[in-house]
Amino acid sequence: MNYTEIAREHLKAATEQLEIGADSALKYAALELRMAMEAITYDRAAAFKEEFPIEEYDTWQPRKVMAVLLEIDPMADKDSTIAFGLEEENGVPAKKMTSLGVETVLSMRVLKKHYDALGSFLHIPTIRRTKEGKKIDYSKLRKRGEEIRVYLDKVLSSPVFNSTLGAFSSIECMECGNKIRRRISQVENTINVECSNCVASYRVSYSRANQSIWEPMQKEIECANRGCRKKIVVWEKEIRQGANWTCPECKGKNSLVLGVVYE
Ligand SMILES: [Zn+2]
Ligand SMILES: [Zn+2]
Repeated sequence: MNYTEIAREHLKAATEQLEIGADSALKYAALELRMAMEAITYDRAAAFKEEFPIEEYDTWQPRKVMAVLLEIDPMADKDSTIAFGLEEENGVPAKKMTSLGVETVLSMRVLKKHYDALGSFLHIPTIRRTKEGKKIDYSKLRKRGEEIRVYLDKVLSSPVFNSTLGAFSSIECMECGNKIRRRISQVENTINVECSNCVASYRVSYSRANQSIWEPMQKEIECANRGCRKKIVVWEKEIRQGANWTCPECKGKNSLVLGVVYE
């Protein structure tokens, strides 16, 4: 399925509806623009295919797909410039970089803003709004439609659209089994990653050899019963004032409290 082509077709249809100039054509333009945005979202997802639970995402709505895209790659909603160059010395970034252009991507923020705004024009006003005498603001809809048309045109004519350079790393969460995926940053050596499903968090570090190490962010805490001292392991996110547990050894109850130590 070529979603870029589908997006272009819907953008073309939207442009035709906008050019008619009649207010009555604007809702059809809005519908076509929304479909173009949906196609672009699925296109992005295809580029990250390996990172998706394919059997599930087949049935996902565009907004859900975009949310997952952002989870995998926090940079997915930002424009990025891609450049390459020859390394003269091993491991030292090249001095001369050739730019491949700027990739303009449909960001989640922009998507949400535009997609929702257009959605409200595709239904007749609610009973309350009609009672209040509110009418559809066609000049606002036209302005928004034009804005989105220009933006989508830029996205679809971007020279390096949908490139997914870089490596990915994923694990199954030790705590809940949820699959956690991250794009490996080209800039930082260590990132903190939180499971979206539970309290687990990990410190992920990697080398240029594309090896990543997922280190669970956990702490050992001893039972406060002097005669017991049984250790339990907790996630850093679980350490907070008032948290409590029953000791598996002596069955005593322990609570975490804020402490002051006199020095
Ligand atoms: Zn988890
Ligand atoms: Zn104990």
